[in-house]
This record gives sequence, structure tokens and C-alpha cells, in this order.
Amino acid sequence: MQIFDYQVPIPEVGFNANVYLIKLENSESILVDAGPNAPQALDALEATLKKAEVSWDSIRHILVTHGHYDHYSFAAQIVERSGARVWVHPADRHKLTNASDNPFFVNQEAVFPFLEKLGVQKAKIANLIEEVITSERGYKPLSESCISFLSQGTDLRFPGLTIKVIHTPGHTPGSCCFQLVENGAVFTGDTLLTQVTPNPVFDIYGEERDLSLVRLQESMTKIRRLRASRAYPGHGKPILEIDRAIDGQFSRMGKRCEQVLQILGTKRLDTFSIANELFPSGGRYHTWLALSETLGHLGWLRIQKRVRIRRNAGIVYWEVQ
Ligand SMILES: [Zn+2]
Ligand SMILES: [Zn+2]
Repeated sequence: MQIFDYQVPIPEVGFNANVYLIKLENSESILVDAGPNAPQALDALEATLKKAEVSWDSIRHILVTHGHYDHYSFAAQIVERSGARVWVHPADRHKLTNASDNPFFVNQEAVFPFLEKLGVQKAKIANLIEEVITSERGYKPLSESCISFLSQGTDLRFPGLTIKVIHTPGHTPGSCCFQLVENGAVFTGDTLLTQVTPNPVFDIYGEERDLSLVRLQESMTKIRRLRASRAYPGHGKPILEIDRAIDGQFSRMGKRCEQVLQILGTKRLDTFSIANELFPSGGRYHTWLALSETLGHLGWLRIQKRVRIRRNAGIVYWEVQ
């Protein structure tokens, strides 16, 4: 078994996404993520196939770490040429297929009450949703028939290689890590990164929507327990000191919590107001991430009983406890 990696620039973002090609002993290959649907994606994959001395037909499986466009949106083209199966956790399926349960495409009304609760003014909500849709549109959806589902603890067995699936929600509800049993290496997607803190992107479903950061922390602890030999992240270089990387993330999250508490002071504020103070230069699509980051830290503080919620006229307000 051999691992080859390549990077694809993410359009309009200014950094790269990693794609990994695992060549099996029978010369079949597996991709971990497919990268963004960028102009460079095809050349980068072809160069890697050449380097690995395998053909398009050798690509039998694409394991998707999570349903963000920078990790899956080139998958449809790869499937067309290779017939590969795409594996994703069911909780992120709708992101790949634009399925009918993706409210951004079919029922935006469902998103309104949630954003209003966060304190986003009605007039701004339509813009915010449009930004999310624009960023997700334009990616060729995958057909349901080429998708298989990943589940926690499953062993995927290939010639000479077993891959353990670890469900690590937090960054997205369906984020997964993949550990190679033979050498202990783990592919972490965006659940463990070193250059940036993974964003606990909130889900608009479910009851405890402020707990995505808490879930992300639990997932990082899961990764720590794997005692992996190295981590291959979705962005940036391989991580050799995994414990240190995780400690670094926890310390960054702790610092941000202190910032949130400072902003709150003795005031009672809604989530959107806190997000605007925490990220004063927030662009438009960035607003969604700023809201996620803020809500995630507030949820963690709530669990620690350092902040509490007060509701008024349908809006959730936060205050120091
Ligand atoms: Zn991501
Ligand atoms: Zn990413």
C-alpha cells in the first residue's frame, strides 16, 4: 500500500484542499476526498495517477471525510470516468446530492426562524441564505445510486488494507476520520487541522444546535485516543505530533471563550451581536462561519455553566452566569 497526496486550490479562498490517493497491493486505488471542482483538479489528479502508475479505472472508492464542497465537489467527474463508489456518512449525504432534505435548496423558510432566534434581522436573512446557496450551487450533485454510507466503527476491507471508520461529528454532523489499521495513520478531514481552528459549523436541524463545538471537542478526544502514527488533514501538511495539535486547538478554543465572556461583560446580547463583535470584519458568506463559531463557543460556555440563556420576544439572549 502506498499513499500519494496532492493539493487543489479552492476557488476564491486562497488556500488548498488535500486529496489522498491510496494505491492498494492489487493496483486498485482509493481516494480520500475528491477535492474542489476547481480548474486545476483534473490536472492534479491525472499527474498523481501517473506518479502512482495507476489508471482512472483503478479508482474504486472515494471516501469523503465530510460534505463540504472543497472536499467532495470534484467527485461527480471522477465517478463519471471511473465508476467509483462514493462513501459518506448519512448525516452529510444531502450536501453531496442536494437531496430534498437540504433546506437551502428546497425550503428556505425553515431557516428563517432559526436565524431570527440568533438575532439576525429579517432584512439580512435573505442575503445570508443567498450567500450560502451561491457557494453551494454550481457543484454537480452526485446521484444517490453511486453513494454508500459510512458508519462508526465499521472496518472497510480492501486487498492488503483495512480502514476503520470513526464518526467524528462537530465540524459537520457527518464528519468521519479514517484510520489505516496496517500503519496507524489517520485521515482527519477538517476535524483536526493545525493552521486554522476547524469551524464548528452549526446544523439547522435538531434541538441542541449550539453544541457543535462540544461535539468537535469530543471528536478531537476520539482522535487522541486512536494513538495514530500520523494524521493526514484536509488542509496543510501531515501532522506528526497529534497530541500537541489537539492541545493547540483546545487552547485556541479556551482563548476564544474568554473573548466571548469579555464581550458579554455585564450585558445581555444575542448571538449575532456577539458574532459581529468577535469578527468585526466579517464578510457576507463569512457571516455564516462567524455565527457558527460564536454559537459553538456559547454552547460550550453554557455546558460549563459560565453563560445562560434568556429568551425575549423569540430571540435568544446570552448573559454571564
Ligand atoms: Zn470542512
Ligand atoms: Zn475544508
